[in-house]
Amino acid sequence: MSSSSSSAKLPNVIFVLGGPGAGKGTQCLKIVQNFGYVHLSAGDLLRAERQRPGSKVGEQIEDHIRKGTIVPVEITCSLLENAMIESGKETFLIDGFPRNKDNLDGWNRQMGDKTIVKGVLFFECSEEICVNRCLERGKQSGRSDDNEETLKKRINTYNESTLPIIQYFDKINMVKRIDASKSEEQVYDEVQSALNEIK
Ligand code: UDP
Ligand code: MG
Repeated sequence: MSSSSSSAKLPNVIFVLGGPGAGKGTQCLKIVQNFGYVHLSAGDLLRAERQRPGSKVGEQIEDHIRKGTIVPVEITCSLLENAMIESGKETFLIDGFPRNKDNLDGWNRQMGDKTIVKGVLFFECSEEICVNRCLERGKQSGRSDDNEETLKKRINTYNESTLPIIQYFDKINMVKRIDASKSEEQVYDEVQSALNEIK
């Protein structure tokens, strides 16, 4: 971690975590409209890189997305860093990352001295709600991973690899828990209170 004298100039980051379909992306869009954050979805950045002609890692990314496993951190972290630099802004919501220990270690290596992590918004809801929301989204999204088979694997990855990361941040008092099972508006009310506490 950086010393307090230099921290004022470093970009601030809030990690946004929660199960697939918990509403991270939806709530981040609402936050962006009302707070000055830039929303960076790790999943969206990976999907964009997968589509980019000439990408050397496109196939590797698609392979992980279909299997519900996690892309090596060097790829994801570089996409995040580039997007942060390109935005020219200083406060970021990083949605869907870090998802496992490799992600967290890689972030600390690559970005630990360049950013300040202010906190974690944790969107908490039951597996059943997550699955139903993803299947509902899958009817429109065209995403190769919003189907029942991949969803089982994504939930598995979430329980095995992501929950321990949330628990790690919780132990150091950095987590704001949000009940993500409620309506969009009710969830957003909780989000606003949480963000006001993090600032
Ligand atoms: N993914 C990844 N690393 C990340 C973010 C996403 O490997 O940091 C991959 C992973 O395979 C995941 C998929 O992208 O299952 C979709 O992630 P996204 O965050 O878009 O899904 P959501 O949780 O929003 O439903
Ligand atoms: Mg998302």
